[in-house]
Amino acid sequence: MNARAVPYHCPYCGDENLWPHEGPEGSVHGEWECRSCLRAFKVSMIKQLQRPALGSAGSGGTR
Ligand SMILES: [Zn+2]
Repeated sequence: MNARAVPYHCPYCGDENLWPHEGPEGSVHGEWECRSCLRAFKVSMIKQLQRPALGSAGSGGTR
């Protein structure tokens, strides 16, 4: 399974100027760099969440 996590906005400055971060061994999967605030960060999934059961909470505000 190849879980891809592609950020669309920088989590620090909110810009969209994101590029794959290249380390000494080339681009590492899941690592990105923002060329606006010059930060490099990593996007990784922690766990898979269970989808909440529909119709049990009733807090959706449907009319
Ligand atoms: Zn940024």
